[in-house]
Amino acid sequence: MAENTFMLEIVTPEQILFRDEVQFLVAPAVEGELGVLRNHAPLVAALKIGVLRYKDAQGQEQKIAMSGGFMEVVDNTARVLAETAEHGHEIDVLRAKAAAERARQRLIQRDENINYSRAQLAMQRAIARLKAAGVDIDV
Ligand code: ATP
Repeated sequence: MAENTFMLEIVTPEQILFRDEVQFLVAPAVEGELGVLRNHAPLVAALKIGVLRYKDAQGQEQKIAMSGGFMEVVDNTARVLAETAEHGHEIDVLRAKAAAERARQRLIQRDENINYSRAQLAMQRAIARLKAAGVDIDV
């Protein structure tokens, strides 16, 4: 391992999305953005819907959309367990825009049959995906 890197693993119920050395990461923790560098003290943090950014071993910044989970940091390994996670470059932008629009339509209606908190979460997931894909959001 290079002297300034540590391991990042991102796992979902479906797959191991990512496992490689990184220089730096910022995770969307429930308590606020959480930055990790090599030799970080051990920690466990709950993560919310948002974008996890990292700098890869070549120094390029990359983005991953994720929808909640946990991160553990121990012995120069950061393990993220996420409900869903996608690399920014793999995100289907049209699908995320359609999901955002569906959620927006639900949120502007006054209808007791609509589950507003579910629509809000769908909106947050869509916004995180569009941000990770580098799309300017106007919802
Ligand atoms: P949709 O309404 O478009 O299905 P959603 O937020 O309800 O969006 P999730 O339940 O969070 O979708 O995800 C279901 C699966 O689809 C997961 O594997 C997730 O990684 C994937 N996924 C969801 N939206 C996208 C997208 N825009 N691009 C790529 N993969 C996606």
